[in-house]
Amino acid sequence: MRSNNNRSNYSTPKKLTENKDNWEKIAKGELPKSEINENVYKGKYTRQGKTYYSVRDPLSKMYYNKCCYCETIEHAPEVEHYRPKKEVTEEKTHNGYFWLCYEWTNLLPSCRYCNTSGGKGMKFPLAEGGVRVFDAPIEEGVFNTDRCKVDTEELLAEKPLLLHPEVEKVEDYFTFENNGAIKGIDGEGRGEATISICNMNRDNLLERRQNVIDKWLEDIEDILLDYSEGEATLAEVKRRVNRKLQRLKGSCDVKEEFSLLQMVCLSDFERLILNQLENETFKVFLKGIYDDFLVTEN
Ligand SMILES: [Zn+2]
Repeated sequence: MRSNNNRSNYSTPKKLTENKDNWEKIAKGELPKSEINENVYKGKYTRQGKTYYSVRDPLSKMYYNKCCYCETIEHAPEVEHYRPKKEVTEEKTHNGYFWLCYEWTNLLPSCRYCNTSGGKGMKFPLAEGGVRVFDAPIEEGVFNTDRCKVDTEELLAEKPLLLHPEVEKVEDYFTFENNGAIKGIDGEGRGEATISICNMNRDNLLERRQNVIDKWLEDIEDILLDYSEGEATLAEVKRRVNRKLQRLKGSCDVKEEFSLLQMVCLSDFERLILNQLENETFKVFLKGIYDDFLVTEN
């Protein structure tokens, strides 16, 4: 998961705004939530033979074609409701946040696995002391959409456990183990809760993230082996390891798949990569190159 502040560069899709009447009626309870028009999220049009999705495409671009939760590349994401629109798993008497159905800041791009029932589904747990909002903001008969935005005071006062990439600096909430597992590290337990809600330690993610770590380890180990076998000089080895570290740094770019994992590989290099080397001499040698790299980079 990575923080994102791109939304201000995108205007609210017309598909959402042109449904204002339907939205207001649903929010006021004049129409049942079954009238929420799913075509709004799936809406598409064709231009010069190419199909465009009115809501999905800008979300996708905003999040660099990645799932906003697990960071896998996803070119056809689902349009996920951060606050579920029809029901809330943890609160049986809640009718769902039906009034947020077409709220732009409540929509995020997600892969199918993070979004569906094995993952997030209708879950939206709150932290202790959070005040659940049950009703749409209707003021003197008027639906106030300003109070639907994800960062309004009353919605923040709910204290959601699920992190929102545009509200929290989500990088501060997670770390990784060298088997690829993601782990929450904040005192409030929001990282752990987000992992559990979206099932972010499912088998295929674990395996793919472990592969990322193992690949860096293997690549660097190969370079060090060349030196110990006399196939490369010390200077060459340093240059090659440095290039690898440069490449690792490039992989931390927010546009890259699993970029938070790559960031932790670089910042917590000793724990995730270096300490996995079996050869003690390699460890000392690599530590020297890594320390020099940090000095040059900063
Ligand atoms: Zn995902």
